[in-house]
Amino acid sequence: MKKQFSLSFIGLFAWAIFMVSCSKKSENTASENASVLYKNATIITGDGSTVLENADLLVENGKIKNIGKNLKSDGAKVVDLTGKTIMPTLISAHTHIGNLKGNSAAGTNFNRENVLRQLRKYQDYGVLWVQSLGTDQASLYKNGLYDSIKNGETDGARMLSAGWGFGVPTGAPPFPDHHGDDNVFRPTDPKEISADMDTLQKYPVDFVKIWVDNFGKDMPIMSEKIYSEIIKQAHARNMKVASHLYYLNDGKRLAKDGVDLFGHSIRDAKVDDELIGLMKAKNIPYIPTLSLDDFAYAYGAGTATWINNPFFKNALEPTVFEMVSAPDFKAKQAKEQDLARNKIALDNALFNVKKLYDSGILVGMGTDSGAMVIRPQGFSEHHELELLVKAGFTPLQAIQIATLNSAKILKLDKEYGTLEKGKVADFMVLDANPLQNIANTQKINTVYKAGKAVSQGPISK
Ligand SMILES: [Zn+2]
Repeated sequence: MKKQFSLSFIGLFAWAIFMVSCSKKSENTASENASVLYKNATIITGDGSTVLENADLLVENGKIKNIGKNLKSDGAKVVDLTGKTIMPTLISAHTHIGNLKGNSAAGTNFNRENVLRQLRKYQDYGVLWVQSLGTDQASLYKNGLYDSIKNGETDGARMLSAGWGFGVPTGAPPFPDHHGDDNVFRPTDPKEISADMDTLQKYPVDFVKIWVDNFGKDMPIMSEKIYSEIIKQAHARNMKVASHLYYLNDGKRLAKDGVDLFGHSIRDAKVDDELIGLMKAKNIPYIPTLSLDDFAYAYGAGTATWINNPFFKNALEPTVFEMVSAPDFKAKQAKEQDLARNKIALDNALFNVKKLYDSGILVGMGTDSGAMVIRPQGFSEHHELELLVKAGFTPLQAIQIATLNSAKILKLDKEYGTLEKGKVADFMVLDANPLQNIANTQKINTVYKAGKAVSQGPISK
């Protein structure tokens, strides 16, 4: 009798636990899908001008249902965000995915696990779209991986891929120390390009990457007859061309030949009216990647003020902190000739981005993060915002560059890039206001991807 009682008691207890866990489950699902009203926040919409104080954001089924003051909850769960700031998540239009591992950056590191790990890192840093520019591998497109990343079905940032691009034999991108074992095309004759482009066209690639640079070294640089043919062949297939570049004169030739995107700053000289005229006539957008020039310069110059910032350190691959903080690394960067060249590059880059923006060129945010171990994914994007402010932009403009403008360049702006009614609810809540200090974008409280809380930032709380 006693035994029977205890058995049925246990049964009842188990049933109660089961019911509680069920109701918890349905509650969780409900809170993810149903409406949530975020109240009393400072809201930066990303359009470059709108800041709403004490404002509310209503999210329903992953989209922004309403934004404004004194919104009614209408049954939505209410989250009070007094003292917090809401802004759109960042969109980085020039990155490299899957190549970093420890202290190496190489194509041999590229696999599903490494790609997804890095996309989760970007997500922790509030970057929810990245464009990987020209160092991906065919495995990305197998078993539906690329589609599920692009459609937001995997954990981490969504990604656009430019497949693998066009470089120069024994030239850029530097082989093998940079992207060792890459499968970049390196045509020596324009006649080869059509077949290479046919190969690339088998993959869902919108942008084709080219490298036009000699890195200031005795290295061959891509000739105009090669890149003009690449541009022609890409356009014939309805693909666009994004160029790595450095020199003003290459910029002019590339613009004349119809390149669709400048993937870096002009760094050897200040931009002139001729280049501005060419870029404007053809609506060529510009991604300055200022942070890479700072990373190339600052350690040697002694201006790497971020070195002990946990937000920086947490973005690094293992052993890279030891590398960048070692005296020999600083000494290497401080070599007179390199330091002088990199200072000119950084100064020109800071000047040129403002000049081009003020001339009406569409400027977006990209960093080249993930191309080298000293360009940490996630941190670079926030550092880029700081450098845009250093270049003379207001924090509001810098944020617009890193959200709406990048979305425009990637043709994502119908659904992403700003916080407005009907767009996807990709946003982050910050503990401090970046309009007071742009470095406050690093004070991430929560990252929301399509309305769902996916991270509390890179630093464990
Ligand atoms: Zn790059």
